[in-house]
Amino acid sequence: MPTVRQCSFCGHEIPPGTGLMFVKNDGTILWFCSSKCRKSMLKYHRDPKKFKWTTKYLKVK
Ligand SMILES: [Zn+2]
Repeated sequence: MPTVRQCSFCGHEIPPGTGLMFVKNDGTILWFCSSKCRKSMLKYHRDPKKFKWTTKYLKVK
């Protein structure tokens, strides 16, 4: 059974056969569901807690 991975940025599940893999210099493997998530983390260094479309978003009262 294929492993269902979670996007390293937004936390959504990535269907098998899709997604983007990225290996960091220290050997950590990151998976992204889309180039939007990949850019957000690697290019813009965004915090997923601040974006409503991620599962890591923290609601501030
Ligand atoms: Zn994602």
